[in-house]
Amino acid sequence: MIIVFTGTPGTGKSSLAKALAKKLKYPYLDVNKVIDKENLIIEYDKERDSNVVDEKKLSKVLVKLIKTNKKLIIDSHLSHFIPQKHVNYCIVTKCDLKVLKKRLEKRKYSKNKIRENMDAEIFDICLYEAIEAKHNIIILDTTKKTLKNLIKTIEDAISKN
Ligand code: ADP
Ligand code: MN
Repeated sequence: MIIVFTGTPGTGKSSLAKALAKKLKYPYLDVNKVIDKENLIIEYDKERDSNVVDEKKLSKVLVKLIKTNKKLIIDSHLSHFIPQKHVNYCIVTKCDLKVLKKRLEKRKYSKNKIRENMDAEIFDICLYEAIEAKHNIIILDTTKKTLKNLIKTIEDAISKN
């Protein structure tokens, strides 16, 4: 089974993806490491204070990894761009805006970067893109729930199908 985690930075993807990987004994794939290893950064966008990634190449690399690993948990706000046919579940993490702002400030992100991520969460960009890609979506709000509780929700949703 291939499970991808997407969602606005700060909404809790990595915490949950790592915890679920441990629980299910699945390999955990940090897409940022793949981007580094495969040199997939096209340029640095100074205004947005973020790297521009070659998303097409990334998707190809990830599909290759999926084909060689029958079980995988993939963590990235870009993971919903992996074609649906390769993915069993797309988990979209969400978070209350006030809490998200605090989490991002704690990361010492620039004002612009915080604004951009807040806007992405307000407009549910990852969620809408995941819906457009016709993923099998599980939406999880991480604001008030413990990791244990969230993992239980995922396991329940998966075992129903
Ligand atoms: P992402 O990978 O989406 O950027 P992280 O998993 O790194 O998000 O989490 C961002 C911050 O939110 C971290 O400080 C983390 O400890 C906190 N966090 C994540 N999930 C929860 C949760 N369920 N309850 C409380 N805090 C959480
Ligand atoms: Mn993360």
